[in-house]
Amino acid sequence: PPPDDARRRQSSRAPSKSKSRNSSVNGRLGAEDFEFGEILGEGSYSTVLHVTHRATRQEYAIKVLDKGHLKRNNKLQTALAEKNTLVRLGSGHPGIVRLHWAFQDEWSLYFVLDLAKNGELQSRITRMGSLSTTCARYYTAQLIDALDYMHSRGVIHRDLKPENLLLDDAFRIKVTDFGTGKLIDIATQPATKTFVGTAQYVSPELLEANETSKSSDLWALGCVVYQMIAGRFAFQGLSEYLTWQKIKQLEYTFPEGFDEQAKDLIKHLLVRDPLERLGAGPPGSTHDMAALRAHPFLASIDWATLWTDPAPSLE
Ligand code: ATP
Repeated sequence: PPPDDARRRQSSRAPSKSKSRNSSVNGRLGAEDFEFGEILGEGSYSTVLHVTHRATRQEYAIKVLDKGHLKRNNKLQTALAEKNTLVRLGSGHPGIVRLHWAFQDEWSLYFVLDLAKNGELQSRITRMGSLSTTCARYYTAQLIDALDYMHSRGVIHRDLKPENLLLDDAFRIKVTDFGTGKLIDIATQPATKTFVGTAQYVSPELLEANETSKSSDLWALGCVVYQMIAGRFAFQGLSEYLTWQKIKQLEYTFPEGFDEQAKDLIKHLLVRDPLERLGAGPPGSTHDMAALRAHPFLASIDWATLWTDPAPSLE
């Protein structure tokens, strides 16, 4: 029999009678090149499944989006924006879910992504109540490193939250869900408009001026660090409206026993003025990205080995 590779090329060139006929954008790969396994999760417009690439036996997550459903709800642009953002981010960072291939057939769009075997950070926080300070420190550092990379590539995430922080087989973070991500001009970096995000992590500037910038991701980082350690949201009202009131008034308190250095970090992230947040200042300023990395809460982090050191135990 012909080697796998040749068979694959043959099968993708031959006109197929099956409904999942390969019409991949690059003409090389289609759904039939993968063995479909269990469903990993579902989104509003998508199903994510475990797949194995037949030729290499490599495992991935495949996100399948129904074109009809997307079109009916005017979400085709959002799906394409997600793809474009992932393409811009490329394979350059271990903490960001990588898009390996994208293709489509008559019915669906398919995104072949890094597989994050250990699910969402949110489930871990829920299961354990909260994370140890050591764990929270480790994930804070990984998140900062990933944010620094995506911001340097002109990508604002705009919906950072523990549901969008997946864990790979080594329990390292993989940031996902760039559906609401925004590509900005790297040179001019204008603030962008339109409302997106999840109530508890929304920044005051978005609520008040309908503007987001890289710094809005730093606000969300502050909310995530708080949540990992406290086991609850920093800002939570009885309704979305009341949550927003609390955000605008910077109304939050730390539970007793909260790590003092983590408190200090959060206080420097949950700052109303986006320009004053730690990490948002221009390079060389007292509150630039280097200053964020150098914060005392992160003093024990070795940034050079952050993605190769084993993760601290979650248990
Ligand atoms: P919505 O579109 O409604 O905001 P979502 O963004 O969570 O939802 P998807 O990106 O389709 O939707 O993800 C659905 C679920 O699949 C997620 O909740 C996540 O648990 C799981 N999932 C997504 N990507 C991966 C991946 N690369 N590896 C493992 N699981 C994943």
